[in-house]
Amino acid sequence: MLFPYTYVPHQMDKMQTFIDYIFHEAWCKAPTSGPFGLNLFDANAELREVMEAFYYSDAQGADFFYGHVERIYGLFSALSAAQISQFQQWYQGNNDLEKLCANDPAAQLVRYTDIAVTHKDLGGQLAVFFKGLYSQSLLDLAALRAKIGDIDHHYKAFVTANKAGKCPFCGINDLLSEYHSKREAYDHYLPKALYPFNSINFRNLVPACHHCNSSYKTSKDPAHKPKDPAGEAVRRKVFYPFSTAPHAIKLQVTLQHADIENLTPTDIHLTFGPANIGEQIDTWRDVYDIEERYKAKFCAENDGKYWLTQVLDEWQYDGKSPADFLTTLSRQATSKPYAECNFLKKSFLDACQRVGLLDAIEKGENAP
Ligand SMILES: [Zn+2]
Repeated sequence: MLFPYTYVPHQMDKMQTFIDYIFHEAWCKAPTSGPFGLNLFDANAELREVMEAFYYSDAQGADFFYGHVERIYGLFSALSAAQISQFQQWYQGNNDLEKLCANDPAAQLVRYTDIAVTHKDLGGQLAVFFKGLYSQSLLDLAALRAKIGDIDHHYKAFVTANKAGKCPFCGINDLLSEYHSKREAYDHYLPKALYPFNSINFRNLVPACHHCNSSYKTSKDPAHKPKDPAGEAVRRKVFYPFSTAPHAIKLQVTLQHADIENLTPTDIHLTFGPANIGEQIDTWRDVYDIEERYKAKFCAENDGKYWLTQVLDEWQYDGKSPADFLTTLSRQATSKPYAECNFLKKSFLDACQRVGLLDAIEKGENAP
C-alpha cells in the first residue's frame, strides 16, 4: 500500500474483547468448567448482559451467536490440555496482524483448512461462527449495539482521523469522507473465508475503495503467494495497514516509444522500489493489480494524455517551459503525492521527458 492508516481506537473494539473472553475464559476452560451456562460470563458483566439478552431473544442473529458459542464450548470440552494450548497459539497468532504481515515466524498463521485436518467438526463450527461475526444482522442487534456502538460511527471516526481522502491501496480513487452520508466497505485484509479468529478484529478490517476491495482484491490471499504448479502455498510479506513506520514506494515509468496518441499498456514498463520493501511491494502489486490500473491511467484520454497536453498548453499559452512545469510538479508530488494523482503524473511526465516528448515542445515543434 502507498501509505499506512492510523489505527483509530473505538467502542467497537469491545467486540474483539468479548470474543477474546469467550475464547480464553469460556471455550479454553470448557474441559474443567462444567456444563454451559450464563454463569461462564459472570466475570465480564457487559458480555453477560449481551449473552442473557441473546438467550431470551428469538432474533436470528442472537440465536446464531448464542448457539455457536454454546456448541463450540461443547466441542472444546472434549479437547486435551495440549490441544487447547495449540488453539491458544493459533488464536494469538491470527490476531497479531502486524507480525503476520511481516511473515514473522513468531506468529503462526492458521487457516480453517489446517484446523480441519485434526478437528473437522470444531473447524466447521468455528468457520460458521467467525465468518458470521461481521454481519449486519448480528451487529445491529440492540443488546450488542448498546455495548459496541455501530460501524457507521466507527467509519466517521476513522475517516476523521485518516484525512487523506484517497484509497491508500491504489492512491487513485477517493474514499467517502465524514461529509458523505454513505461509507466505503471494510475489507477483511486477511480474508475471513480463509482465516479464523480475526474477522471482527479492527486491525484486520480496513476501509478500501470499491475497486480495490470488490474488483481487484476480492478473495485473494495477501499472506500467501499464488499457488505454484506443485500446489504449495508459500507465505509472503505484505504491508501492515496500520504500520507506524512510514515507507515510500518509488515508481519509475518507461515508455517504449514517443507516439503518445497510440500509447497502449504494452508500451509502458513500470519499475517499483526500494528493494528493502520489495517483497511487500510485489504482494501489493499482485493483490491489487497495480500495474494494470496504473498503465490504464497513463493511457487514458483524461489522465496520462491530458497531463502531457497540460505541459503543452502551459507552454503555448502561458510561456511556461516544460522544465518549469516539471519543477513545480516535482514540488507538488513531494508535498501532496496523492492530490490529483501527482505521484503518477510526475512519474509519467518524467517518462515522457526521457523519451523526448518534451524536447519536441522545447524545440518549438508545437510552440506558437
Ligand atoms: Zn483503491
